[in-house]
Amino acid sequence: MTTPMIKFDHVNKIYGDTKAVDDLSLTINEHELFVLVGTSGSGKTTTLKMINQLIKPTNGTIYFNKRAVTDYKVRDLRWDIGYVLQQIALFPNMTVGQNIALIPELKHWDRAKIKTTVDELLTQVELPPEKYRDRMPAELSGGEQQRVGILRALATQPSVILMDEPFSALDPLSRTQLQDLLLRMHQRLQMTIVFVTHDMNEALKLGDRIGVMRQGQLLQVASPQEISEHPVNEFVRSFFATSTSQSDLLNQPISQLTKYWQPIDQSTPTSTVIDINASLTDVLPELVNQECVVIKRADQPIALLTRQNILQYLSEQSPNN
Ligand code: ADP
Ligand code: MG
Repeated sequence: MTTPMIKFDHVNKIYGDTKAVDDLSLTINEHELFVLVGTSGSGKTTTLKMINQLIKPTNGTIYFNKRAVTDYKVRDLRWDIGYVLQQIALFPNMTVGQNIALIPELKHWDRAKIKTTVDELLTQVELPPEKYRDRMPAELSGGEQQRVGILRALATQPSVILMDEPFSALDPLSRTQLQDLLLRMHQRLQMTIVFVTHDMNEALKLGDRIGVMRQGQLLQVASPQEISEHPVNEFVRSFFATSTSQSDLLNQPISQLTKYWQPIDQSTPTSTVIDINASLTDVLPELVNQECVVIKRADQPIALLTRQNILQYLSEQSPNN
């Protein structure tokens, strides 16, 4: 049975002569991972911020758990709705552990429970607590900081988490890792997630359902499969087609990347050996925990591809270039 968690009922947000959000009606269900996708300026952030009342609609009503959001005390609403942004602002003068413990402390949890929660959360995202708990944010990579930011939002198990392009500033490898992590956590914890992105591939990978926005309007709401097979109009079709060419990029066989190959020499560390017919999609997961892979042809090692080589290739091919 599906229970509505968040409901927009004919919601508008107007700035001067810009309709940032134009007559939005949408229901997001409990436990759902709902993705709002659209190009820059389509109204995604405005939509998200109206849920936790960072922005008030010009008119229309938004419901959270069947009550209008305006009927909640803002503090109660925000405590029950986690919020994760592209550039997560961890407090720079607090350790990783203190950052995650922040909201539990505000909620007066007891110390022992906070400590266990922090350590459990860090363990779940493969940041061993004894190694990471007492580090400062500046001593973490971008991907690690983003993981801690997500944990901070998860710490008190809010029933809803709003995520605004949380992985957009990350390199492709960290982004893939964090997408996988999010899917695992969602599977385990079953919280309701509203996830905003401009990247259709990310939407297709993560979404139980996807809403496509353009110029403040919600054009289509459907499952990833429906949306790729039956786009509602030309805009959605072409948006999807552009992102397919991005996934073509990842389906490139590494044999096409000779420009980026490196010679093998004595100092080459022991690495996974990959067949020359493999694609980038096969190689990327290998590069999460090692710097390079060895390419073989007919069982003979012939070249190396390093993580740096791949990042360079991807950034050179990126349509934003
Ligand atoms: P997205 O997150 O999809 O990039 P936004 O929700 O941030 O889009 O913005 C939607 C539209 O509303 C854009 O045209 C943007 O310029 C406009 N807009 C957003 N916030 C304001 C504001 N505070 N004042 C005026 N216009 C705004
Ligand atoms: Mg935005």
